[in-house]
Amino acid sequence: MKPLIASALALALLTGSAVAQAPETTLIHAGRLLADPATGKVETRRTLIIQGGRIVGVEDGFVQRPGAKVIDLSGQFVLPGLIDSHVHLLHENGPGDKMDRVTRTTADWAIMGVPFAKKTLEAGFTTVANLGDENDSILALRDGIARGDVEGPRVVAAGSVISPHGGEGDVYGYRWDVIRAVQRPTLCSGPDECRKVVRQQVQKGADIIKIVATGAVLSDAAQGVDQQFDDDELQAIVHTAHALGRKVAAHAHGTVGVNAALRAGVDSIEHGTFIDADSMKLFKARGSYLVPTLMAGDTVTGWANDPNSFLSPQAREKALLVGPRMIDATRRAHEAGVKIAFGTDSSVSKHGDNAREFELLVRAGLTPLEAIQTATVNGAAHLGLSARVGSLAPGKAADVVAVNGDPLADVSVLRHVNFVMKAGVVAKP
Ligand SMILES: [Zn+2]
Repeated sequence: MKPLIASALALALLTGSAVAQAPETTLIHAGRLLADPATGKVETRRTLIIQGGRIVGVEDGFVQRPGAKVIDLSGQFVLPGLIDSHVHLLHENGPGDKMDRVTRTTADWAIMGVPFAKKTLEAGFTTVANLGDENDSILALRDGIARGDVEGPRVVAAGSVISPHGGEGDVYGYRWDVIRAVQRPTLCSGPDECRKVVRQQVQKGADIIKIVATGAVLSDAAQGVDQQFDDDELQAIVHTAHALGRKVAAHAHGTVGVNAALRAGVDSIEHGTFIDADSMKLFKARGSYLVPTLMAGDTVTGWANDPNSFLSPQAREKALLVGPRMIDATRRAHEAGVKIAFGTDSSVSKHGDNAREFELLVRAGLTPLEAIQTATVNGAAHLGLSARVGSLAPGKAADVVAVNGDPLADVSVLRHVNFVMKAGVVAKP
């Protein structure tokens, strides 16, 4: 090695930066920009400056920089990547559900989730909470997406749902020995057992804890839709999860079950069909979120009214009890000032159709801006991700979507997202 080259190399090693390249810069020219849905302020002709997957600046006009890649969205409405706080990425419900459960392996489930994750991302949803799927399958999909091996949204995963024995998260409709073979490991009875399954879920890698606090629609259990976990079990679950830094999302329809879960301190009520005046007070006192999942209500009502429905008689009865009431519950919660986070329960409805929930939220009385807030700033706060996602500002992830038209005038334009970037990587087109 010649002395000159050797000394240059030594210098580079010493400084660590002598031969480093400037980070790659991407510039997005946004015709109209809703950078922070909390303010509702729409700016025109702005440039988002992106480096290393993050926003590093937002400037006036259409800025150019030498060597930077420019993405021209000058004719588009640009907003932060959307957040769906309730999905199940590994399947879509249908007549095959019962057989799938006893024929598919955990590897099958994970692979089934790959196209659904891609569809969700391409629909503009850059972050989702997956509230209940087999541990190994969903955690593998979450981690594969995070590594960049698989295309999909950032996943906050609950893993398997925690349910009482014989409750809605248990298994119905098979021979007893078959039930025992396919039961989840996350069933519990009594506060001690419930503490234990929460700790085990965290150990296995759950980001959030999902519990089934009341009966549910899509099971073959004839148990109604009210409280199933006892108060002491709910308290043990919430206390343990919070001690381990995890939030608790509670599936709950019936009034008594909703209020018991809120009293125990859950961070969100999923569905919340029969919320009453006491629920509203509890929501506000605890700062808990309602995740309405209006698309699920709409979808199961359609199935129940179909004379050739694949639903069991038990599920059909519950669907007709719950489905048509969900919009009204959301309207009452919104009027009472309860915080709402966007969630679809996709798997009931089709993956990729998530944005139809915006129209149902508007039908429940939210303004288009309020509906967009549920899927951006509110979703981020609900999931504890406000420092990273939910708005477009320096330091935040470069999660960006764009649409033609003005979603603040007509929220249905969000069904046709034509540009998606997640953490600086273009996912669509
Ligand atoms: Zn669900």
